[in-house]
Amino acid sequence: MHSASDIKILILDDDTFMLKLLTRMLVKQGYTSVSSCDNGRDALKMIDNTATCPDLILLDLNMPDMDGIEFVRYLVDRQYHGDLILVSGENERMLRTAEKLVHAHKIPMLGYLHKPVNPDKLTEIMNMWKPHSLESQPQPNKKIYSAEELRSAISNYELVNYYQPKVSVATGEVIGVETLVRWHHPVDGLVFPDRFISIAEESHLINELTTSVLTNAFTQAKLWHQSGLTLRVAINVSMDNLTSLDFQDLVVKLATDADLPPQKIVLEVTESQLMSADARIPLEILTRLRLKRFHLSIDDFGTGHSSLAQLRDIPFDELKIDQGFVHRAWMDDTLRAIYDASLSMAKQLGMETVAEGVEDQKDWEFLRQTGCDLAQGNFISRPLQAADFSNWMKGWEDRVHNGLITSSAQS
Ligand code: C2E
Ligand code: CA
Ligand code: CA
Repeated sequence: MHSASDIKILILDDDTFMLKLLTRMLVKQGYTSVSSCDNGRDALKMIDNTATCPDLILLDLNMPDMDGIEFVRYLVDRQYHGDLILVSGENERMLRTAEKLVHAHKIPMLGYLHKPVNPDKLTEIMNMWKPHSLESQPQPNKKIYSAEELRSAISNYELVNYYQPKVSVATGEVIGVETLVRWHHPVDGLVFPDRFISIAEESHLINELTTSVLTNAFTQAKLWHQSGLTLRVAINVSMDNLTSLDFQDLVVKLATDADLPPQKIVLEVTESQLMSADARIPLEILTRLRLKRFHLSIDDFGTGHSSLAQLRDIPFDELKIDQGFVHRAWMDDTLRAIYDASLSMAKQLGMETVAEGVEDQKDWEFLRQTGCDLAQGNFISRPLQAADFSNWMKGWEDRVHNGLITSSAQS
């Protein structure tokens, strides 16, 4: 655990009154290593020095010299590893756009604050925060893994499946899990998929990787089924898995070996990946799998460009609304509009809807009121190792019985 005083925070704002105000608010909350800068250039010097590089930056968007967006670009060049909170007097929509930009650069963003800053809002954001720049310290600054390292990780069984529950919004019933792969690296610890999936795709290891994930997931699903828990198990399929018709045979064979009915297997394919490649072979593979009654899910819906064409061409059973349009949709009109449109389109096409990234009670209640079918996210559970699943399930059932399902129906 880290105490608040271990955490280095930098406030960047051209308004010196704002610097003093935010510093005071943070110190009051116990964050004592707070520095401030009134211009981007000085802030970058601090970031370049490991002794002063902050774990969290509160960044003003509107600055006269280097503005906040430009500053973010420099952070990307430096592979900045900490988190960011945007602070601005601009309206909600402008802040959302800036937030999307930051997300696109893969810089973790904790949230944003409107000026004048409300101290309670700042406390709320800080309480949610887990400083991953500190947590992931054993991983030297975004180490890039080689294809060879990944290949040996696959053959040494260092890839481990985690499972994140998908639950019914109406009843709380646990319907299935999404399989999310992690690398238990012997030296670097837990490595997340965004650090190695693209390497697997580029170095033609993705079929080996997916075979390992499918085999482990089906073995686990069989154990769950044998114990009476007939969960649907979802697997993420890369577009690069869909380049040869062998993939279909592989899925069928592994499912048959594990004695799993295809209706209990969901293949999640992301929309943005679907757009780019020559669509014929993937289309054929997906259609044939669908004919065999495997379930198909369109993942990250809303983030790509030709969503409608994909929906028309591929017989998806499930639509996953991207977490970017779920978390905080209850308080943001733009998100809400995209969320509503996705939901109603899915309903019209007879697809089941899954909302990803349900992070708190407010998100959950929003889903209850809007009639989404399934929910997935840290509010329900973080991705778990199989061994932790039954304990989680007991806790979840208690939460459901203690009012998670009835509370919003009454409000
Ligand atoms: P995805 O399919 O969109 O998976 C959801 C991601 O959101 C997971 O990240 C999950 O841990 C995270 N998440 C879950 N609940 C919450 C929440 O409440 N809030 C937030 N902010 N995030 C939440 P993860 O496990 O790091 O996976 C990242 C991506 O890597 C996945 O995105 C998926 O596209 C890819 N991936 C994971 N496993 C595999 C795999 O076996 N094969 C392939 N091809 N891709 C995989
Ligand atoms: Ca997914
Ligand atoms: Ca997703």
